[in-house]
Amino acid sequence: MRLILLGPPGAGKGTQAQRLVQRHGIVQLSTGDMLRAAVAAQTPTGLIAKDIMASGGLVPDEVVVGIIADRIEQDDARNGFILDGFPRTVPQAEALDALLTEKKLKLDAVIELRVNESALLARVEKRVAEMLERGESVRADDTPEVLSKRLANYREQTEPLVHHYSDKRKLITIDGMMPIEEVTAEIERVLAAVTKADETARAARRKVASRRAASPSKKASKATKPARARKKAAASKPKRTVKKTTRKAAKKVAKKTVKKAAKKVSKSSRGGRKKAAKVAGNRGNRTLKATAKKGRKATKKVAKKASKAAKRLTKRR
Ligand code: AMP
Repeated sequence: MRLILLGPPGAGKGTQAQRLVQRHGIVQLSTGDMLRAAVAAQTPTGLIAKDIMASGGLVPDEVVVGIIADRIEQDDARNGFILDGFPRTVPQAEALDALLTEKKLKLDAVIELRVNESALLARVEKRVAEMLERGESVRADDTPEVLSKRLANYREQTEPLVHHYSDKRKLITIDGMMPIEEVTAEIERVLAAVTKADETARAARRKVASRRAASPSKKASKATKPARARKKAAASKPKRTVKKTTRKAAKKVAKKTVKKAAKKVSKSSRGGRKKAAKVAGNRGNRTLKATAKKGRKATKKVAKKASKAAKRLTKRR
């Protein structure tokens, strides 16, 4: 499982990260802890970070991105990790996206702990008092003045990541003002839902893939058909076209013949009518009717002839 914990200083990211480590057997990668270790060891990175951290500023993106790129390569991160305090800026988030894509690693979720700023100051003051009571040394950036600056940095530089990850449908927002146990329970509940949804999606993808393998679609079979088979299929296709064309041509010829015949008939019936009119003078209406009938008969005969010709043509082709 690969997670990011997002939230302002004092939101409880460190506490929740430790619980996740225990439950899921993954490592916590805190850039703050790594930088403090570098400062203590006086490494080149520590020397760059020391003053920036003490004043509540942000260490340059390239420095922290470099640290994370090295760290996620290590063996203990294979099983998964929780990023705590990273990314803190949009360029850091983009660099992480690229890093994960390059390594073919999937980010499961970004858990945002949303807290009320005025409550944070009270929390940090309480934490400092408790540490002093235990005789522990207090972090140089845990004073109310430096905390105000870190909060301002969070608002300006880190809060835009909420949109970055909600656009990617990775963001889960949890009320960080609840008691620690309840926050932990809520994180576990949403992570279980994320895992279940992922499993369902994976199973659905597997089902689709196996169905496709069993009965490849027309498109897929077309693409994978060997060239010889494609040629064979193409050779058999024109036959249908020829047949279709023959039928079409026959119809056309039939139409033409019928038209021609109709013209002939109308001419003959005109002649017939004329003739009939002439005869009518002598023999009356009955003769006119008989001549018209004769004309209709001729039309039928010619149409029959035309249809026979069309049929013959179809057979020949
Ligand atoms: P944290 O323990 O996460 O509150 O970090 C302590 C300090 O380390 C911060 O105030 C920054 O100065 C520095 N730091 C930690 N993580 C980052 C980061 N991702 N980008 C820049 N600076 C960081």
